[in-house]
Parts: sequence; C-alpha cells; structure tokens
Amino acid sequence: MQRQPLVIANWKMNGNRHLTSQLAEALRESGALLNDVSVVVCPPAVLLPAWQSEVFYDDVHLGAQDVNEHHAGAHTGEHSLQLLTETGAEYVLIGHSERRQLYGDSDDRVRAKVDAVLAFQEQKLKVVLCLGEHEHERDNGETFTRIEGQLAKALANVSAAQLAHVVIAYEPVWAIGTGKTASPQQAQEVHAFIRNWLQQRYDAAAATVPLLYGGSVKADSAPALFAETDIDGGLIGGASLEPEAFLAICRAAQ
Ligand code: PEP
Repeated sequence: MQRQPLVIANWKMNGNRHLTSQLAEALRESGALLNDVSVVVCPPAVLLPAWQSEVFYDDVHLGAQDVNEHHAGAHTGEHSLQLLTETGAEYVLIGHSERRQLYGDSDDRVRAKVDAVLAFQEQKLKVVLCLGEHEHERDNGETFTRIEGQLAKALANVSAAQLAHVVIAYEPVWAIGTGKTASPQQAQEVHAFIRNWLQQRYDAAAATVPLLYGGSVKADSAPALFAETDIDGGLIGGASLEPEAFLAICRAAQ
C-alpha cells in the first residue's frame, strides 16, 4: 500500500500574520517541487482565517492544534469542530503531549475528542493522534507498553472504516522541543510496533494509516528519519517556524 508522504507544521502558540505570509509564500514558490508531499499547517486557531486566504494548491491543508469534544455551549476559550471546519481546518491534532501534560488531556478526554471528530459531519476532519513515551518510561523498558496503552484507549471506539480518517504521530515526550531526536532506528522500531498493532486490530485497513515521527526534527535529521520503512513523514514544531528549514524537511519527505 502506497501512502502519500505527509508533513505537518505545529506552530504551537507561536507565529503571527507576518510569518503566515512568509511561510505561505515559500510554500507557494516550492509548490511544484513538493508535488508528492501533502503539507498541513496547524497555526494557532485565530490565524486560521489568515491562512485560509493564503491556501493555494491542492496539497497544502490546514489543521487545528486541538478541539473541544462538545459541539457548543458554555466552554469559555475553547473551539468547536464546526467553527474549526468553517475556518478551513481539515485536520486536528489530538493528544499532543503538551495538551496531555499542561492542560489535563487524560486518555479518556483524548478518546472523547477522537470520537467527536470521527462522528462529526460524515468525517469531514482527520484526526492526528499524538502519542509517545516519557524518558523514564523508555529508560525502564516501558516504551511499547505505554504506546500500546495510548493506542488502545484512544482508538477504543474507532472502526476499520473510520481508520481512513486517522493519522498517528509518534512523538517521544523527551524529544519534543528538547533538541534530542530519536535515532532513525529508535523511531522505526516504534513505528513498526504501531503498524503491527493496527494490523492485528484492523487487518488491511492498517496499511493506509500515515505514521509520522515528531520530536526536534530538523532539516539535517529529516532525511534519515523519513527513509525508514514505516515513517511516512513528520510532525514538526520549532523548525516549522523557519520557512527554509520547513521546506527542506518537506523536500526530505518526497
Ligand atoms: C511538536 O510540537 O509536535 C514537536 C514535535 O515539536 P518540536 O519539533 O519543536 O520538537
């Protein structure tokens, strides 16, 4: 099964209108070069309308960094699925380690968000499920147990048909924003584990799921990571704020 390479920019709480124009222009100029790579930009939600007016070719898409699992109501400061899709989002990150660690996104809440996205308007949005182990879990040999637990909980209610709307990003917590990248072998080993887990649970549908690596990916580390069999692209934080570096990473995914 051929999966199209996918690179996602996660701006976190960074960026502004100026950077929106800069990165959009850089992507526009390189559009032809990136023909075989799907690119998704996840800016802060308030920048989605600015991005929406910059979207220009079929392989650049928009995403949100999080979503509330409720449709509407008294949830001050939160964003609904309806609103995010109206502002152009086609993807939504769920379970990012910063949400899990800093904003109380438990496994149950992650599952509720996954379920809400997949139930929404005939699956108009794709889930980018983020998971990964802490450093102490890796040191204690608990990486696979942790990954399996997160997969089982987040995908508890997801059917094989719904899996077509799921992307999985393996992001070891110790590598996010730290400058420490997993080696290509460490990342591949976990990606192969995830693919195998999906295959056992979903059979042939598992082959279509893009598996991304995230954690301090830079222009120089991307080629070796993306060359691994089960790594279909990346989820890029810091380096997505530098247009040249981000484009180099996108090119490495071709
Ligand atoms: C992320 O935010 O998902 C991420 C991987 O960040 P960074 O690339 O900065 O480690």
